[in-house]
Amino acid sequence: SNFVVGVTGGIGSGKTTVTDAFAAKGIPVIDADVIAREMVAAGSDSLSDIARHFGPDILTAQGELDRAQLRQRIFADETEKEWLNQLLHPRIRHAIETRLNDADATYCILSAPLLLENKLTYLTDRVLVVDVPESLQIERTMARDNNSEAQVEAIIAAQMPRQQRLAQADDVLSNDGTVADVYDQVEVLHQQYLQAAASKRQ
Ligand code: ATP
Repeated sequence: SNFVVGVTGGIGSGKTTVTDAFAAKGIPVIDADVIAREMVAAGSDSLSDIARHFGPDILTAQGELDRAQLRQRIFADETEKEWLNQLLHPRIRHAIETRLNDADATYCILSAPLLLENKLTYLTDRVLVVDVPESLQIERTMARDNNSEAQVEAIIAAQMPRQQRLAQADDVLSNDGTVADVYDQVEVLHQQYLQAAASKRQ
């Protein structure tokens, strides 16, 4: 099987910036969030299952998933949240596995904000954590999303604590410098991953 590097990190830590740097080197990036979104695209089997369960009001006039409403429904009800996860998680895992297997490269990246929480590490050979001090994480996320400091802090508080994430890292990319620093660190990691992938093949 392919050599897979899992990339994860908290909100606004720089996962996209980091995976863009790997992609620029020709490394395929499989994004768990993109797959999860495609899974419930208009007209998909999963979206009809969701509409049958929650009722047609869960769809917009355009036949798309009303995400805000779904969030409310599962926020208010743990059983509904569990139902949704049991429907989607196996399908998302299966789609990720297919993409990883089909990737034609020395190694590939699995980018997943919830890589550790959703225990997707069985798919990975190494875990790369993108790490930032909380102050920078708040500053960058506020600038990007136009959120208040309190909103960003609430999201951070709901995510895995920084130290717990770092404890599960094989590699850490410290995103406390410039974007050029990110590209320098990615170059070093890229060389390591090429070597590790080559020895796995032997
Ligand atoms: P999310 O999970 O919230 O989508 P993410 O982990 O993918 O976020 P990015 O979108 O890559 O994080 O980065 C968050 C914001 O910070 C973006 O606006 C990005 O351009 C900016 N950013 C990332 N790294 C740096 C850096 N080293 N210097 C300055 N800005 C940065």
